[in-house]
Amino acid sequence: MSAAPDVVIVGSGPNGLAAAVTMARAGLSVTVYERASEAGGGARTEELTIPGYLHDVCSAVHPMALASPFFERFELAKRVEFLTPDLSYAHLAPTFVGLSYRDLDRTADGLGADGRAWKSVMGPLTRQISGLVDLSSGAPLRFPSSLSAAVRLVASVVEHGSPLGTLRFREDIAPALLAGLGAHTVQPMPTFGAAAVGLVLGAHAHARGWPIPVGGSKSIVNALIDDLMRHGGELVLDHQVDTLEALPPARCVMLDVSARGFLNMAHNRLPSGYQRRLSNFHYGPGVAKVDFALAGPVPWSNAELSDAGTIHVGGTATHVGRTEREIARGRHADDPYLLLSQPTRFDPSRAPSGGHVLYAYAHVPAGSTRDQLDTVTRSVERYAPGFRDLIIGTNSATAADLAAHNPNYVGGDIGAGAVTMWQIAGRPRLVGSPWTTPIDGVYLCSSSTSPGPGVHGLCGWNAAKVALRKTFGLREPDLRFE
Ligand SMILES: Cc1cc2nc3c(=O)[nH]c(=O)nc-3n(C[C@H](O)[C@H](O)[C@H](O)COP(=O)(O)OP(=O)(O)OC[C@H]3O[C@@H](n4cnc5c(N)ncnc54)[C@H](O)[C@@H]3O)c2cc1C
Repeated sequence: MSAAPDVVIVGSGPNGLAAAVTMARAGLSVTVYERASEAGGGARTEELTIPGYLHDVCSAVHPMALASPFFERFELAKRVEFLTPDLSYAHLAPTFVGLSYRDLDRTADGLGADGRAWKSVMGPLTRQISGLVDLSSGAPLRFPSSLSAAVRLVASVVEHGSPLGTLRFREDIAPALLAGLGAHTVQPMPTFGAAAVGLVLGAHAHARGWPIPVGGSKSIVNALIDDLMRHGGELVLDHQVDTLEALPPARCVMLDVSARGFLNMAHNRLPSGYQRRLSNFHYGPGVAKVDFALAGPVPWSNAELSDAGTIHVGGTATHVGRTEREIARGRHADDPYLLLSQPTRFDPSRAPSGGHVLYAYAHVPAGSTRDQLDTVTRSVERYAPGFRDLIIGTNSATAADLAAHNPNYVGGDIGAGAVTMWQIAGRPRLVGSPWTTPIDGVYLCSSSTSPGPGVHGLCGWNAAKVALRKTFGLREPDLRFE
């Protein structure tokens, strides 16, 4: 280990590793410190239930893996095999099932009277996906594509982030599909923030789909670590960093920690205005995670659900809005919004022959200590009678457990900060370079920074590009697969 690396990085989540790879590729010596005994943060895959059954611990489905400008330059698709389901996501309610295929026309055909309206919302956004990616990635904007995508997105957000959103539709399914997308933000709805994220996710679903990596999310992390090692980087596990002073001297420090984590680590060195901003950065409700090892595939009553990469269980748009408001007020919902994925349907390498894994999380109040195993089991059984009999192993983590495992997920908030319109625009504050901090040479690079949560590496890559320029006078390096 070099005594004084050029760059020290705290945290080995996708953003910490994206920063590490970018700095190492620029010819700098890099050491990454990770408090956990496994690298990867929110992109790990482990045998959580019984040996041979591989479960994604946090992220499972990767709408941004192929669309992220960082992963595009890193040529992730050459390093990791992705499987992209034709049926991007489904939405379940007691009285209907909504299906959103990659194929926009097929989706519209299934929506009957609302098919045309669905196309009028999703068609333009899908066609402008590259402009939307520019807008949501912090990349330099391109004209006129970014401008026209911005105009289209703002118009759609104003409509779908308000009660007006349902007026375009005649039936319940299309609004429920949109509500299920917006609920990825774990925010009360309708709101502009939830609508913005939901609409962009919906456009990705029709553009390149929502891919699943073979071997699980860990494959993405392995590709990053492999590249880092080949360029001289070092990774130190089981190493919690509590203060900046505890780090070895380095010209540059990059922190893949939450805004709150940074405040705790450095408050005595931060000006009061910046401290106030970080203290006011707020966190959303939590999620509770449940994983199942199964002796067979989930026996969905509606056989088409087997083909879905992701399933939202949420009921009507009104119901989703109500349960999301409940949990934001600190009350558990009886039938909370669930997100499910059965990756073994596409990637059999994750379980022994014939076996399956089911991934689930439920939306719960911040800091909840309530186990959601029974709630999730009951809910899946309702749509897949016989599910219970197939269960051969389970693992359940409350929102409080998630936060204890990874302090970035404050209270179980998987975004490391609420995804509201304000906190999308200014993450963690509204300035040109939100990754820069008042301490010279110290940068924040976690999903508490722009552009926010998701496995896309963009917070880390953007922070690294700023650090290369400001601290080292270097340009962005080539990241291509060698
Ligand atoms: C249950 C769940 C489901 C999710 N599902 C999806 C999904 O399907 N698709 C998707 O795109 N995204 C999903 N996400 C979100 C995604 O995982 C995160 O947005 C992403 O991992 C953020 O990356 P990051 O590098 O900023 O932080 P993280 O991945 O959280 O990594 C931060 C790392 O820093 C370490 N660390 C923190 N503090 C310290 C310290 N003081 N000292 C040393 N190490 C420290 C942590 O241990 C961790 O390893 C999910 C998240 C969760 C929790």
